[in-house]
Amino acid sequence: MTDEKDFLPFLSEGNMPYAICHTKLNRGLLFVISGPSGVGKGTLRKKIFKIFPDLKYSVSVATRAPRKGEVEGKDYYFVSEDKFKKMIKENKFVEWALVHRDYKGTPINYLIETLQKGEDVLLEIDVQGAMQVKKKFPDGVFIFIAPPSWKDLEDRLRKRKTEEEKDLKKRLEDAHTEMKYTKNYDYLVINDNIKEAMKKLKSIVIAERCKIISY
Ligand code: 5GP
Repeated sequence: MTDEKDFLPFLSEGNMPYAICHTKLNRGLLFVISGPSGVGKGTLRKKIFKIFPDLKYSVSVATRAPRKGEVEGKDYYFVSEDKFKKMIKENKFVEWALVHRDYKGTPINYLIETLQKGEDVLLEIDVQGAMQVKKKFPDGVFIFIAPPSWKDLEDRLRKRKTEEEKDLKKRLEDAHTEMKYTKNYDYLVINDNIKEAMKKLKSIVIAERCKIISY
């Protein structure tokens, strides 16, 4: 039973009830962003951290080789497949999945510790991982980033020149499967214009931070 006195530490001066928000749980919000490869998630993610510097990013573990310019511990923790499989056995992940051709996973410790500190965390993970997270964190905020068209997605993937032709084809094939998961998300942001997409993402974060949880 929630007693009125439970609210008190969360009320602003003057005991106005508008100050009651998710911090009642003293736990941060979990934002999960997914979308097909090439849709611009990486760019949006970088921009969102500039707007909300207090938002924390959970760095994933990956078995693929680092791309030019990628930094260990900032973009990913790069590990061998053997090490990744060992980490699965040791329950080191909240979720993990074979994404395209590589294993990717979200470390459990950082996520739990950060949320428990009351800080909001953002994960940028694929749809398989997001569905695993949704089971464990049904209160998470799940945001799907979609391209305006297939052609747009293919053009973007080709332009960034990070994949060989066979990998690019695989990513496009996977995009068809990924798009089917849209209905399992709370929000859809179509990235036809980075400025507009950012406006929507920013609004989602602000709105979710203002949301009053039901007791
Ligand atoms: P990339 O290889 O281009 O960096 O990432 C490919 C895909 O892997 C992206 O769709 C990204 O969301 C996903 N991904 C990155 N980290 C994780 C993770 O920890 N878990 C899962 N399931 N997917 C991830």
